[in-house]
Amino acid sequence: MDAATTEKSLITTERASLAGRPAREEAEQAVRTLIRWAGDDPSREGLLDTPKRVVCAYEEFFSGYDSDPEELLKRTFEETDGYDEMVILRDIRVESHCEHHIVPILGKVHIAYLPKHRVIGISKLARIVDIFARRLQIQEKLTAQIANTINDVLEPRGVAVVVEAAHQCMTTRGVHKTGVTMVTSRMLGAFREDATIRGEFFGRIGHRDARSA
Ligand SMILES: [Zn+2]
Repeated sequence: MDAATTEKSLITTERASLAGRPAREEAEQAVRTLIRWAGDDPSREGLLDTPKRVVCAYEEFFSGYDSDPEELLKRTFEETDGYDEMVILRDIRVESHCEHHIVPILGKVHIAYLPKHRVIGISKLARIVDIFARRLQIQEKLTAQIANTINDVLEPRGVAVVVEAAHQCMTTRGVHKTGVTMVTSRMLGAFREDATIRGEFFGRIGHRDARSA
């Protein structure tokens, strides 16, 4: 199975798992259990509505399972009218949650592609980031999913995605290291094959291309 097929089956599995979704009350009960586990009393006044609020927050944090990014892109691309230069969207804010600790991953995403016959509205690129970010994630998978989806639907000459993010599971627990940013990238097509194109992209987002350094 190649990488793109693996990613696709992953998306399908994530969406399919919603079939057995527990009831809201069950989810709230689970939060009460965690509060008791932490050592507090879920029936004290300040905590009474907490399970309800946490479940609402989860609805927002993980709303990405309800959206299909490929469908979104398929509905919205436009013909290029001959435009074939690099399109770059820099500094897209990303808020996700790590799948190991369910704590925030906060950072930014840079996306570039070289159109062949289709372009896409920039707000749609940002939406793609949100759809994948609002799931339980690891940064490597998030990066690959964004790049692969754009590549599969737009069929451009190439796609580049860089994610720079801080993981609160590193800053607020475990090793407690602040100020550390993880950088991941996925280069497809011309960005993978052509060092000059890759260099132009890294230059424009203000990075050195580590591969040619
Ligand atoms: Zn983590």
